[in-house]
Amino acid sequence: MVSRVESLYNLQLIDAEVDEKRRALAQIEVQLEEDTELLSARRKVAGEEDRLREPRAELRTLELDLEGIASKIVGTKEVLYGGRVTNPKELAGLERELEYLERRQSDIEDKTLEAMAEVEDREASSREANEHVRRLEREWEAMQGDLRRRAGELESRLEALEKERGRALLDVCEEDLSVYEDLRRRKGGQAIALLKNGICQGCGLALPTSLAQKVRRGQDLVFCGSCERILHSLT
Ligand SMILES: [Zn+2]
Repeated sequence: MVSRVESLYNLQLIDAEVDEKRRALAQIEVQLEEDTELLSARRKVAGEEDRLREPRAELRTLELDLEGIASKIVGTKEVLYGGRVTNPKELAGLERELEYLERRQSDIEDKTLEAMAEVEDREASSREANEHVRRLEREWEAMQGDLRRRAGELESRLEALEKERGRALLDVCEEDLSVYEDLRRRKGGQAIALLKNGICQGCGLALPTSLAQKVRRGQDLVFCGSCERILHSLT
């Protein structure tokens, strides 16, 4: 036959585990919802793609300029060396024009090389950012599986605890239960404190010997004079 206080103490052990498992479950639920690292990595990928747009457009413009100049050079050479123009002044003008176009061509070629290097550079950072996201996604999926497994374990333990609690309640009278529930609410979930060597483990108060003996007998509920918890002796 378990005493009144033992029955309550059993209930408290169950309730403490329920509290702990619920907290763990709530924490997992938060972890299942958010992954700030992955979100920021995805933002970085988008940023890298934005950063690529401008140098790519610039490169395309330079390439078009080069094509235009190349065809102008071909056209000018055709006229210059085609034999149709014989006027020396006109020929000199065409030569100057050709020189100008070739200088311009060389200038744009230099800029094109610079732009290509810039695009390659940014493409490399963009690839790196993408790889980082893929790696985080793989880790995230693995972790999600792990978290869901743990959540499942916690849920089934909580179900079992609910049944255990139902059975434990059969040993507790209504009056004791309401005292217990009230203390549990006011005392941070701990309605019952253990008594060890005459000292309340809830607050550290040393109990008078007569009261400690009463606790050990376990017939009545004995309350700590300081923290008000129900005292229980395991020995
Ligand atoms: Zn106490």
